[in-house]
Amino acid sequence: MLSIDALHVTYGGAVQALRGVSMEIPDGEVVAVLGSNGAGKSTLLRAISGTLRLHRGRVDSGSVRFGDDQLSGRDPAQTVRMGLVQVPEGRRIFGRLTVEENLRAGGMGNRDKAAKARARDRVYELFPVLQERSGQRGALLSGGEQQMLAIGRALMASPKVLLLDEPSLGLAPRIIGQIGEVIAEINRQGTSVLLVEQNATMALGVADRAYVLDVGEVSLSGPAAELSRSDEVQRLYLGHG
Ligand code: ATP
Repeated sequence: MLSIDALHVTYGGAVQALRGVSMEIPDGEVVAVLGSNGAGKSTLLRAISGTLRLHRGRVDSGSVRFGDDQLSGRDPAQTVRMGLVQVPEGRRIFGRLTVEENLRAGGMGNRDKAAKARARDRVYELFPVLQERSGQRGALLSGGEQQMLAIGRALMASPKVLLLDEPSLGLAPRIIGQIGEVIAEINRQGTSVLLVEQNATMALGVADRAYVLDVGEVSLSGPAAELSRSDEVQRLYLGHG
């Protein structure tokens, strides 16, 4: 279980981005985090993956724990080795490298050759289109295929928890549906998922439970099916009313 407890984060010693956020990502579940621009979603992921410092941010108080281990203060490479792997917002695949080379880069920290081969087979099974394009440069893929490659690259590190930052960003509705299905399948195969999304329809469709972040605080949380029915979520995030 990944647990976040009363987390306070500031940037440059001034901007309070998270103000006492607590949440739990139980093993085997998909947990969605919704919220508008500036709510603190990316900050939450940075606090988990150990990349806050790269953005001049720091944890002032509270904790991030994975099982019995404290995550706050660790660097990104350590976090990946512990099994938490982030797919960054905006995909950021290597455009000049081929699909296959991108995947190899994702598996670089993984010394277990057999595990790497299994991960690669899993990625090509989940995304047959990546196998078809394995020799093509990343830059030549469509937006949806690049998102699939970014997810595939993260899977090469055999994560226990996959951290996704707005995978639907800039994609057509049909492709967003496919990404949602793939997230559900990855989860069925045993990987927990923390899904940060502005697309509430997709996120609540695939998540077991969800949290709504509002200017650095959790304003709502509960089972995804329940949140989908709440007036506030309907009005603010599902475009009803
Ligand atoms: P978006 O979807 O736009 O990325 P978000 O919900 O991910 O929004 P964050 O990016 O976590 O929100 O930002 C939360 C708050 O922290 C905002 O007020 C933002 O301006 C501020 N912030 C984010 N990064 C920095 C930074 N590097 N330096 C200073 N302030 C920052």
